Amino acid sequence: MPIRDGKRYCITHTKTRMSRTDNFKALSNVTGDAKSGSVDAQAGLVVMPFLCEECGYLELYVADRERFGSGE
Ligand SMILES: [Zn+2]
Repeated sequence: MPIRDGKRYCITHTKTRMSRTDNFKALSNVTGDAKSGSVDAQAGLVVMPFLCEECGYLELYVADRERFGSGE
């Protein structure tokens, strides 16, 4: 999504700011075949979702404490 002045905007609604969801989420790795594999809860990535309230467009950023720890 476009970031202007540190604020995130929807890729479709370029005047609509995207809002950060309340919580960080985790993407877990799937081991084995992607359809029948099992989720490895120990291996994954913590992400921070941003959501456009107009269209539901969702984009994820890696939750990086240095960049986002200040409660932006
Ligand atoms: Zn949108």
